[in-house]
Amino acid sequence: MKIICIGRNYADHAKELNNPVPKEPVFFLKPDTALLPKKNPFVYPSFSKDIHHEIEVVIKINRLGKHIEEKFAHKYYNEIGVGVDFTARDLQQQCKEQGMPWEKAKAFDGSAPTSQFTTIDQFNDINNLDFSIQINGETKQVGNTKDMLFNFNQIIAYVSQFFTLKIGDLIYTGTPAGVGPIQINDTIDCFIEDKKMLSFNVK
Ligand code: ZN
Repeated sequence: MKIICIGRNYADHAKELNNPVPKEPVFFLKPDTALLPKKNPFVYPSFSKDIHHEIEVVIKINRLGKHIEEKFAHKYYNEIGVGVDFTARDLQQQCKEQGMPWEKAKAFDGSAPTSQFTTIDQFNDINNLDFSIQINGETKQVGNTKDMLFNFNQIIAYVSQFFTLKIGDLIYTGTPAGVGPIQINDTIDCFIEDKKMLSFNVK
């Protein structure tokens, strides 16, 4: 399986990092080794001094497809969850300055803790869904999927022009404003609406 991550999909987050608001989805990949096994802590990597949290809604692909039209994209997923796109912001800044790829800043081991998944019929409207992250009980980021620049179906249509989507692939759909650093010994809790979906510690 692969993990596809959409960057700069919330205008307020693009602005906080002084990035332009994109005209097309920006995306990158993480390998399956970026998943954090259940009940494991996130181990703060030694190569960075500035790991940031990015809370994101995650959709799980349940059908094989390529060149998927937007009007059919809803048939390719029926479960959503939440995940953290951990980012070594210091390394990412160096990569950006050098015009180099971001992978070492984004795709390292454990950089994609992902919750359990819930069927979308559990929610009134997945295009109007609050999600949030708490660190040590303090809310750090709150988003709503209605603020995505590119919605779930538009993302699937765009990405599937380039990559065949396979059953079990995950798409991280971008983070709202409020990204910031984490520290060793932090407890991280992630929510969709009021439901705690994911909880882990930083070691
Ligand atoms: Zn992200």
